[in-house]
Amino acid sequence: SGFTVAIVGRPNVGKSTLFNRLLEQRKAIVDDVSGVTRDRQYGIADWNGKSFNVIDTGGFVPRSEEIFEREIRKQVQTAMEESNLLLFICDVATGITDLDQEMAHVLRRSSKPVYLVINKVDNSNRMLEATEFYSLGFDKVFFISSMSGSGTGELLDEVAAII
Ligand code: GDP
Ligand code: MG
Repeated sequence: SGFTVAIVGRPNVGKSTLFNRLLEQRKAIVDDVSGVTRDRQYGIADWNGKSFNVIDTGGFVPRSEEIFEREIRKQVQTAMEESNLLLFICDVATGITDLDQEMAHVLRRSSKPVYLVINKVDNSNRMLEATEFYSLGFDKVFFISSMSGSGTGELLDEVAAII
């Protein structure tokens, strides 16, 4: 299938961990250091007999306050051009940040569907905290732990259903 899913979000939210989880192989570099995966990674995921392409976008590192919105728009614009569906990843451990708000602002205007994916929901306390992300204004919201794989099956079910 030519269906392509792009993973977007600010650095360190777990994009590459999710990418690896979806591919079940180690193609991206996962690291604690912000912006380690600078280049885009491409892979193919299989789920319920369907395949789709997955793009792990490198987390941009804002170089200054003035250009940071431009960087966000560039990352999201490229992802929108290359994909059929965007997964906007946020991190429950940090909560909603200014960068998340900026990205949400751009993504709410996307012509492509956007699924909001709250990552690092590793336990039930974090599930309670994660409800704040509904305020970002997306219809489709998923709560996952890329580390354990919890919730990723439901996300993949929804992706496979629209291919
Ligand atoms: P990226 O910059 O968005 O690609 O983020 P990475 O995938 O490199 O992950 C950043 C950090 O978050 C790493 O230390 C990961 O191990 C950690 N991480 C990713 N997913 C999870 C998760 O579901 N739970 C927890 N607790 N940590 C995670
Ligand atoms: Mg990465």
